[in-house]
Amino acid sequence: MEDLVSLCKRRGFIFQSGEIYGGLQGMYDFGPLGVELKNNLKHSWWSSMIYENDNIEGLDAAILTNPSILKQSGHEDTFSDPMVDCKSCNLRFRADQVPEHCKEEDLTEPRQFNLMFKTNVGPIDDGTSFGYLRPETAQSIFTNFKNIVDSTSKSLPFGIAQIGKAFRNEITPRNFIFRVREFEQMELEFFVKPGTDEKWHESWVQKRLDWWVQQGVPMESIELYEVPKDELAHYSKRTVDVMYKFPHGLEELEGIANRTDFDLGSHTKNQEDLNITAKVIENKSSNSRLAIQDNESKKWLVPYVIEPSAGVERGILAIINEAYNVEQLKDGKERTVLKLRPHLSPVKAAVIPLKKNNEDLVKLAANLKTKLQKLNLGRIVLENSGNIGKGYRRHDEIGTPMCITIDFESLEDNSATVRDRDTMEQKRIQIEDLPAYLMQIIND
Ligand code: ATP
Repeated sequence: MEDLVSLCKRRGFIFQSGEIYGGLQGMYDFGPLGVELKNNLKHSWWSSMIYENDNIEGLDAAILTNPSILKQSGHEDTFSDPMVDCKSCNLRFRADQVPEHCKEEDLTEPRQFNLMFKTNVGPIDDGTSFGYLRPETAQSIFTNFKNIVDSTSKSLPFGIAQIGKAFRNEITPRNFIFRVREFEQMELEFFVKPGTDEKWHESWVQKRLDWWVQQGVPMESIELYEVPKDELAHYSKRTVDVMYKFPHGLEELEGIANRTDFDLGSHTKNQEDLNITAKVIENKSSNSRLAIQDNESKKWLVPYVIEPSAGVERGILAIINEAYNVEQLKDGKERTVLKLRPHLSPVKAAVIPLKKNNEDLVKLAANLKTKLQKLNLGRIVLENSGNIGKGYRRHDEIGTPMCITIDFESLEDNSATVRDRDTMEQKRIQIEDLPAYLMQIIND
């Protein structure tokens, strides 16, 4: 983990938030390369959900949330972790995460601590007008269910997907970006006909595993965890966690839950008239019924929901951990290389003029950069430091799939040296062929 944290800081992926003031626990900022990597990962998820499935729609809803929503979802009453105080070191911990140096006899009885951040809304601060920072993106998907069904004419099965910030006042944030207080989730709520939910659950577990493998997280580093019945969240009929071997241990990367008809049911008025199976929370404030007409029977029903919910930060940590390699070279030296899948790489290609002060070389390189940038594959950089070796080292460390060197021969024959990040092989390619070549590498 230390190596990853150090690389992330040194190369500009991830910084502690507010570091110059001593930081703020459980918060991180994504730097110039981190934001590219994060955007690429989110784009990959978004396109695998929405662009590849005509029955999935996207959403980008507000973060500040009406308390009634989180009352009905059960979060106000139950979204808490057990907390204990250590009377010896005077620190607080989540009851299942007490460090070894604290003795059992020094700990208080666990008490429930609600993880939601509450904030004042509007100019009057007397506690009557407040909202929560959402603890999951899912609820706004449920509350927009009718809007989306009405505006897109969807019928079952269909999904609504959202990527966005979520906030949890974790008692003990730790392990770099693994457990933080502000993070991003990529959540799909997939609505199905009751009775078909178990089959859909299975199929989403498989689809999500396939996706993680495509992001460079191999099956050897993953285990599925069947959450025991007595540990299931209040809304869940079954949850399968995708567990990943993080540097600090095997922990949850994504959770895939069968949320039944609990959420839509709880947000619905006149619940008794519908065949809701979950133990819903009685609703006196909603003005809507979150039901849909069944295509065959024409009856109104509240769908079941399958929810794959993945954390962006945990994904980034797993991906960097898998990609990070230190290799021994033949000349006795070492190189650090981030073998990211090219579609995730923060920089897609570096164009390097052999000499930084040579106008002709720099001009040819700059033109090539512009041309490659127009392909819209992601960031292309012109690396004009005049030190090829240093350029290669930097781009190995940040995971750039290819470096293109423009030298004096290039001015004669319009070719360039292309160096492959993983094999370090170099070959000559005609400059006019480079756009197609790069496109193939990135889209592979
Ligand atoms: P944990 O048991 O580790 O606290 P959880 O079961 O509460 O996680 P979920 O409510 O299932 O997590 O949230 C879905 C996903 O959101 C998780 O799989 C994880 O990737 C991400 N996530 C949840 N809490 C955090 C956090 N504090 N920091 C970073 N990511 C998080």
